[in-house]
Amino acid sequence: ASLVAGSIGALSEVLGDTQRAAGATERLLDLLAAQSPVQSVLLPETLPASLSSCTANGAALQLEDVVFHYPSRPDSNALMHLSLDIKPGETIAVVGPSGAGKTTLFQLLLRFYDPQQGRITLDGVDIRFLTLSALRSAIGIVPQDTVIFSENALENIRFGRADASDDEVIAAAKMAAAHEFIERLPQGYQSFLGERGVRLSGGQRQRIAIARALLKNPPLLLLDEATSALDAESERLVQTALEAAMVGRTTLVIAHRLATVQRADRIIVVEHGRIVETGTHTELIAQNGLYASLAALQFNTD
Ligand code: ADP
Ligand code: MG
Repeated sequence: ASLVAGSIGALSEVLGDTQRAAGATERLLDLLAAQSPVQSVLLPETLPASLSSCTANGAALQLEDVVFHYPSRPDSNALMHLSLDIKPGETIAVVGPSGAGKTTLFQLLLRFYDPQQGRITLDGVDIRFLTLSALRSAIGIVPQDTVIFSENALENIRFGRADASDDEVIAAAKMAAAHEFIERLPQGYQSFLGERGVRLSGGQRQRIAIARALLKNPPLLLLDEATSALDAESERLVQTALEAAMVGRTTLVIAHRLATVQRADRIIVVEHGRIVETGTHTELIAQNGLYASLAALQFNTD
């Protein structure tokens, strides 16, 4: 029972309570089923000041020859010899077919699992030597599907950082292009949301998620772009919000939109747990390989 409670605590911490959705529950069950949950740190390294919140240009992120299989599938590597060198402030788009390992990469960055080989560093520090809470406070997540709680708009955004003031919440909402629609709700920021309150559109939910992430001001942002289609107006507002969210921080985005991959500094194409192509949109289209065929399908992979 205490393991369950501990894992729920860790998950809540990471996701700012935003993902008690079915997906997160599945992940939690996977986590509990795992034979070797991540080891807690005995001698945590001092957290570099750069990681506690984003004051400069985001965090450097390196993956060095990462090999990983899920504990339940020892014969099948989900990631194979993955190496990546991401500079502070870079935006990296991750694309690849379903099952390629995109979500797994995010899970390792958040230390839901540790790789069996290789290592991951944030600003030069092996993430296994950070406490889970320090690591996860350095990472903002915008999930594919945003959970809206039965709370008012103010509190829904405050899930990003519990000690944020009302003014900070509103500033984050403005940056996330959420302020205007919230103000137009019957009781503005006091409007009750969720199943028994105001039902938000997909684009509005995404902007709430972005506002939560901005409130946290993390040096590393992980974005799992929604696959569902938005109307043109929502699409434009979400793009505006994402652009604001990416400024001055390192961003990894599992991309499903052309606008996102075109804006990325670099695209990595993942297949069967390996990076098979890397470059800009124009470069990869010219290669006429896996990326070009995924682009033709508009990245509707997963
Ligand atoms: P993507 O996000 O690119 O669609 P995933 O990272 O979810 O791919 O999956 C990569 C591989 O790992 C797939 O073969 C998938 O079946 C497997 N996998 C994903 N999650 C788990 C899990 N919890 N337990 C075992 N295998 C998993
Ligand atoms: Mg996935």
